[in-house]
Amino acid sequence: MPDRPLSILFVSSEVYPFAKTGGLADVSHALPMALRELGHDVRVMLPKYGNVSERRNRIHEINRLKEVPIAVGDTVEPATIKSSSMQNPRTKVQAYVTTNFTYFDSKKGLYADPVTGEPYNNDERFIFFDRSVVTTCLLLGWFPDIIHCNAWQTGLIGAYIRTMHAKEFARTRLVFTIHNAADQGIFPASSLEKTGLPKEVYPRLTHAKQLNFTKAGMEFADAITTVSPTYAKEITRDKIASGGTPALFRGYQIEGILNGIDTYYWNPKTDPLIEHRYDAESWKDGKALNKKALRDRMKLPHEEKVPVLATIARLGEAKGIPLLIEILPELLRESVQIVVLGEGDPSLATTLQKLAAKHPKKLAVFMGFDDELAHLIEAGADMYLMPSLFEPCGLNQMYSMVYGTVPIVRATGGLIDTVTEFDPDARKGTGFVFRDYTADDFLAAIKRALALYKKPTYWATLVQNCMSQDFSWSKSARRYEEIYRDILARR
Ligand code: ADP
Repeated sequence: MPDRPLSILFVSSEVYPFAKTGGLADVSHALPMALRELGHDVRVMLPKYGNVSERRNRIHEINRLKEVPIAVGDTVEPATIKSSSMQNPRTKVQAYVTTNFTYFDSKKGLYADPVTGEPYNNDERFIFFDRSVVTTCLLLGWFPDIIHCNAWQTGLIGAYIRTMHAKEFARTRLVFTIHNAADQGIFPASSLEKTGLPKEVYPRLTHAKQLNFTKAGMEFADAITTVSPTYAKEITRDKIASGGTPALFRGYQIEGILNGIDTYYWNPKTDPLIEHRYDAESWKDGKALNKKALRDRMKLPHEEKVPVLATIARLGEAKGIPLLIEILPELLRESVQIVVLGEGDPSLATTLQKLAAKHPKKLAVFMGFDDELAHLIEAGADMYLMPSLFEPCGLNQMYSMVYGTVPIVRATGGLIDTVTEFDPDARKGTGFVFRDYTADDFLAAIKRALALYKKPTYWATLVQNCMSQDFSWSKSARRYEEIYRDILARR
């Protein structure tokens, strides 16, 4: 008899296309869609931030879930849970959206003020959200087989369903996925009382005398995963990858499952956001047309033989932006054009803008968040720069490869699991990899790439290698399904 379909609630603080600051949103779209395609009843849940349009996202009210009181410390705020869906030509997944004026609708950013960079009161906001998730299940009388919690923002859900609502959720199993171990959701111990959880569980929510949402998520999970096999090892050993606390992660069993990519939105054959679609056969023409569009958009001159190198990233140390800035003066002496799309650290943004003003024919930067431009960059660039200090999984290197944009990456985390150095003799490999986080190593890798670019036959082989990679969710979604079934069998 075939296995029965499972009911799965997939919870995340960002889900494409509703709200996105990074890869978490893409995963929280694509994995539920892949699980739905495997036949499961999957629903996602996220908060509705002030910059999310209800009209554009077709978010509408649900009768039973209006103005539900939710306690955060001594205050009570109303949550109205609304409904929407996300879809592609193959499938559709229902979404629940937590709305509340004070915590979410009045705020334009997801986690911090977009102008000042000042974080919001995120302890209260995500206590409120986590409680709204539990309350929604209670009011709907829907106790899914699996609640799959993603990133620290969902870290308290397990604590609520195993303490205050243990009876109702007795059959529900919980998976907690770490998307970035350096971002743990740490707040002062005084925030513990705001959770409303029984005092006996405080030790399970606390690490180094502080409230730690990630620790709580791991404590109450039936299975813990992270987003690549190498990162799963790194967070138990490496100070940087683990946000300074490898010992915290050594206390748990954590499986690394490589993220996949959405094969509809991030596919040069079907990408709805680019004008000139292409595949492995038509890549040369496709790339040339998109490169032209990209140069036009970024106001770079058209120079036939000059390769375009690009990066799209949160501007910060984690993505290696300081290292990129360090090498730019020397890199700009080469025959290259460079495109940077990013948002984040204002001082890094200013440095990049100043450099671009000095080299307008070679360096173009766009500071802000622009989904359409991100797709055009993947389609139009020749090489993709990813010098990350650490990288839980990384999606852009995978997007790059399927668009025939050769990745140049640092050997860390998920980048090790997805990119291999091109060997011209064996004609194998998918990019250029450097080990040490140094200007010399990074520049050397770029120079290897630039040298190969001058040999069109080799370059074409490399591009074909990239474009024939299968990064779809099919394998990893099946692994999650196995984990769900395993923990359900452990009743
Ligand atoms: P992370 O989640 O650590 O930021 P990933 O490589 O996993 O890094 O995913 C980043 C995602 O966010 C990609 O889809 C990338 O295109 C997108 N992205 C990052 N910065 C921007 C930006 N400024 N504009 C548009 N998309 C962006």
